[in-house]
Amino acid sequence: MFERHHYIAGKIVEGTSGRFGPIFNPSTGQQIGKVALASKAEVEAGIAAAEAAFPAWANTSVVKRARVLQNMVHILYREKDALAKVLSTEHGKVFSDAQGDVQRGLETAEFAQGIPHLLKGEYSDNVSTGIDMYSMRKPLGVTVGITPFNFPAMIPLWMSCMAIACGNSFILKPSEKDPSMPMMLADLWKEAGLPDGVFNVINGDKEAVDTVCTDPRVKAVSFVGSTPIARHVYATATANGKRCQAMGGAKNHMIIMPDADLDQVADALIGAAYGSAGERCMAISVAVPVGQQVADKLVAMLKPRVEALKVGHSMDPEAELGPLVTADHLAKVQGYLDLAEKEGADVIVDGRDFKYNMQGYENGYYLGGTLYDNVKPGMRSYKEEIFGPTLQVMRAENFEDAIHLPSAHEFGNGTSIYTRDGDTARAYANRVDVGMVGINVPIPVPLAFHSFGGWKNSAFGDMNQHGMEGVRFYTKTKTVTSRWPTGIRAGAEFVIPTLNS
Ligand code: NAD
Repeated sequence: MFERHHYIAGKIVEGTSGRFGPIFNPSTGQQIGKVALASKAEVEAGIAAAEAAFPAWANTSVVKRARVLQNMVHILYREKDALAKVLSTEHGKVFSDAQGDVQRGLETAEFAQGIPHLLKGEYSDNVSTGIDMYSMRKPLGVTVGITPFNFPAMIPLWMSCMAIACGNSFILKPSEKDPSMPMMLADLWKEAGLPDGVFNVINGDKEAVDTVCTDPRVKAVSFVGSTPIARHVYATATANGKRCQAMGGAKNHMIIMPDADLDQVADALIGAAYGSAGERCMAISVAVPVGQQVADKLVAMLKPRVEALKVGHSMDPEAELGPLVTADHLAKVQGYLDLAEKEGADVIVDGRDFKYNMQGYENGYYLGGTLYDNVKPGMRSYKEEIFGPTLQVMRAENFEDAIHLPSAHEFGNGTSIYTRDGDTARAYANRVDVGMVGINVPIPVPLAFHSFGGWKNSAFGDMNQHGMEGVRFYTKTKTVTSRWPTGIRAGAEFVIPTLNS
């Protein structure tokens, strides 16, 4: 059984709190390791290291910073499979999906290597006679990323690449469920040439999170996880004067118009609802066919596909989805599936009794795919996030009924519409009250040069992840007004300067 500790100022630091959390292999159900959970004092030591490393890194030329990112890109490509293997062992997602997790993360490093261009400020010459004005983007100082279990590579890389490229020091507080792969990033940053103390990892739970959200030396907190914790982190960090972006849970709807290509829709739904066992914040969890005929046809097409889903252990190349992350999460998802039936949804495919009999894997946290029909807006199993391999079909009479569902839902992360009609697609994209929209695209996760963020209870704070929003989040603007002595005396001025001269 292995142990994971902390990584502070360029080396592994053993946890001293005496508290540990278990690390499981969800494919087997075995505990394979334990992770140290930092005390307040240990977190404070990490913050001190990041604070000490900040000034020199902030003063490192932007081109040198970009080269570290460039090195990181090459290293991440080289290490992609090794990272994906560790990630899939602790998370349970299948290996090919884990490779995608690393890939989407390293794309942020690819974007961030262009930081010299992204940090260019603005310059206005001669705003008044002999006066020039310019603005520049300055790093904030110690920044923190708190990440969820479901993307152990992508989300730590979203945050750390942007923070570090902008000249900040960074502390990663990864999920305690799959901390090994995030810890591996520390060595890779070091190999890329990042000075010690600029990237640190502190493993922990609420104690670590609350410490970084209240410590005055931390200037910004980026969080991704469930909505109740996102709300808590946002409230605590902002009450303590920090910049904060906190992304939360989701319930993502796909609208299927009568003119949509149903074969394409069925393919898209199978991947988007059941891929990664539904443990994606951008998973489609609700399908909204418009019109009874479309709904009947779609459910008939989905049923055999859901029944035939290949569930298997994370390294099985044949498996389309792996186990859920922990026994607790499996029980939670099962509870929601039971609730949906009790609330009156029609169970079309029932994956609750799925048994995986492969030798050595009998105790893994597996669940088959489940499909419900005739789900209604008042049901609790619809209102809340399930985060498992299940799809709920809600039948809508027309476009207006359909667009109302995601717009009225408390979450507003992603949504998708399938149609061949440009007017309908355009109206949907413009009007739906959701932050990320796909048109004939099931999982519209923006690429690194755009920015990622939901609306309503799916995100708190004003700025999104990566893209230019990421640059803005990790920098503050300084504006300089400058006049060089010209021999002209303006005399003492007692009124506010205006543009009269
Ligand atoms: P989580 O909220 O349980 O944990 C996220 C982080 O918060 C972890 O680092 C964890 O250690 C910490 N944490 C947990 N409980 C805490 C507490 N009481 N006080 C302080 N910190 C605490 O989320 P999870 O289960 O790891 O991840 C799944 C959730 O994340 C889902 O709700 C999913 O939708 C969401 N998610 C959202 C996005 C997005 O961009 N909107 C992306 C990925 C995941």
